[in-house]
Formats: sequence, structure tokens, C-alpha cells
Amino acid sequence: MAHDAPQATGPGKLVIRNIGLLLSGALEKPILDADTIVAENGRITAIGRLKDVDTDGATTIVDANGTTVAPGLIDSHVHPVAGDWTPRQNQIGWIDSYLHGGVTTMISAGEVHMPGRPRDIVGVKAMAIFAQRAFWTLRPGGVKVHAGAPVIENEMVEDDFKELAAAGVKLLGEVGLGGVKDGPTARKMVGWARKYGIQSTIHTGGPSIPGSGLIDKDVVLEADTDVIGHINGGHTALPDDQIRCICEGCKRGLELVHNGNERSALFTLRTAREMGDLNRVILGTDAPAGSGVQPLGILRMVSMLSSLGDMPAELAFCFATGNTARMRALDCGLIEVGRSADFVIMDKAQHSPGHTLLDSVQLGDLPGIGMTIIDGIVRTQRSRNTPPATRVPEIVGR
Ligand SMILES: [Zn+2]
Repeated sequence: MAHDAPQATGPGKLVIRNIGLLLSGALEKPILDADTIVAENGRITAIGRLKDVDTDGATTIVDANGTTVAPGLIDSHVHPVAGDWTPRQNQIGWIDSYLHGGVTTMISAGEVHMPGRPRDIVGVKAMAIFAQRAFWTLRPGGVKVHAGAPVIENEMVEDDFKELAAAGVKLLGEVGLGGVKDGPTARKMVGWARKYGIQSTIHTGGPSIPGSGLIDKDVVLEADTDVIGHINGGHTALPDDQIRCICEGCKRGLELVHNGNERSALFTLRTAREMGDLNRVILGTDAPAGSGVQPLGILRMVSMLSSLGDMPAELAFCFATGNTARMRALDCGLIEVGRSADFVIMDKAQHSPGHTLLDSVQLGDLPGIGMTIIDGIVRTQRSRNTPPATRVPEIVGR
């Protein structure tokens, strides 16, 4: 069906050469020994040394100039509404601003800020299908927005989930933002969603804005969503003993968000590390929200967790790339042959005391972004939002 067809990526052969550091996005081997990536028609076809790979017939050549290449960042928790506009703080262009923060893929946790959002079941389903279609067709700046995430209501029946899945809906919005706030109902509906291939997440912690409610550890564990949405609260976090209970009581994704409690994010990170479960940690901004939008939110999370959480920066980048891609079955997020050619090219910010990009992030600085690439196509050059990178890549041939 048309809405399942991949978007056209355009023919072409991209070569990125002279890469100083290649981050893979994979926790088990976060740094790759290679200085060149080749991508054809939007997919990675070779990773290696320049002399060993086939660069003939390149239509775009990027000289990375010794900088760092990583998979494009994934924001696991956003609240889009329509196009590149958010009514929450009445801003336009927020998704394009995120691209300048290195985010190439976003996942909706529900289009809950839609003015006049319908709460009746036909309306809930129609809005989800509309959002899925609209963001599949429109990619602001090239950013892949996976949207169409209905928020469950008490009157829903199994057939509703079957119908949503058949229509192309692949996500549930945050459980708890709609009428369903109890564990048993949530568990039943999350199970229906899973049966039809729809992923789920949940609002964890205190109410985010007037009108939303508390979701505690008992509801979270009983609901058994695929992702524990903002386990560090959005903003108000659960007490540490409840966060530990959730970490130990399931094997689901542990999502840390920028618009949450930073101390609780660090507590969750420490707990996951003690458990040997760093593969469960993924990052989001939970924006737009009361705190506005954060174009650099994912980079700020990487830097915060690396510097204050004592986490090697090359591992912290995996939380925003490969971990999320694996958990959410995305074809991006890892530097691997066959994956989507979505990259962010960075260097240490000018005047950071860090000796290298990784060193600067571990010291708490943000990297400077010099280029973003989605589906093998250069989307932005020097970021308008990050501190300026020391060195920037250049397009040297087309
Ligand atoms: Zn939430």
C-alpha cells in the first residue's frame, strides 16, 4: 500500500572520506577502525579505509577533514502536531532546529498537543492515521518523524488496535495521557497493541501539566509497555526506590529525557550500569512541552550523562543512536552496511579545553556540528545552533 512504501531517497553515491573518528552507535564496539563511508541510493554500502573501498562514480564527496562521524541522533520522545509547527509554545521550525542539533529521526509519544484533540474512539483513530500519513509524506528538513501515536482511551476494544495496525499505525502514545490510567486496563490494551505490531510507551511519574496524572511503579510494571517513557519523570520523577524497582522488575527500555529530572536520569543510568543493562538506555527530549523545545536536547543529554554520569562519551552516543534503533526496530542509528545513510558530523567546539571530541563531551561541553546527512543527502552544513565546531567537513565534489 502506498503509505507503506519507503520515501524516495534519490539516486546517488555519497563518499565521506578523511574521517578522524567513526562512532558506530553500537555499545559492543562503539568505535570503528575506518576513515571512509560509501553510501548508494541512501544506504551504507561500504565502511573501511579509503584505499580498500570503491569510490568510483561518486556523485557527492565529503571531506570530513579529520572530524567525527556518528549515526544521526534519534529522539525517542517528541510530541509533534502538524508540519513543523507546535502549538504548545506556538513555534514554527522546531524540527528543522533539531536537525541543526544532529537529530535525524524522531519518534512521537503522542500528538497530544493537537488543539481540540478528539477523545472519542473514531476521532482518536482518525487523528493517529492522519498524523502517521502526514509525517510520512512531509519530512521537515529531511528529518524522519515517526508519528501517529494514539493515546489509549477506556472504550477501546481489540479490533481498534487491529484496525490501527492495518492502517499503518506502529506506535502508541504515552499510556496515561488519555483516559486509561490503571494497570489492568493498560496491560490489556498494550497486549492488544503488541499483538498487532504496535510499540508502546508510558508516562512515568507525576503529572506533566495540569490535567495529566501520576503513574507510579505499580502501574508502569503492570502495563508492561515496550519503553518506560521518561523514567526520570516528565518533569516530576518517581522516588529512587520506585525507579530501581522498575529497572529491576522488567527488561523494557529505560528512556531518559531532557525535560525530566536530571538527578533521576543519573540514578537510572547508574542502576542500569550496575545491572549490566546499558543496552536498555535510550534518550529523548519530551518536547515540545512546558519547557519549550530543545534543539540541542539530545546532545545535552549525551554530554550530561557522559560528564556527570562518568560514562565514556562513545558509549553515551550509543544511547541516542544504536540502542534506540535496535529497541524500536529502525533501519538507521548504526554505522553498518545496509543501514540508512543518516549521519551527523561533529568536532569539538571551538575553545573547549577537551583535547578531542570525546574528551570535550566527557568534560561536559557540547560538540559543534559541521554537517548532517539523511538518506545519503547533505541536509545542513555548519549548525546554526551548536557552538562552532573547530574543524568542519566540506563538500569537495559533486
Ligand atoms: Zn509524559
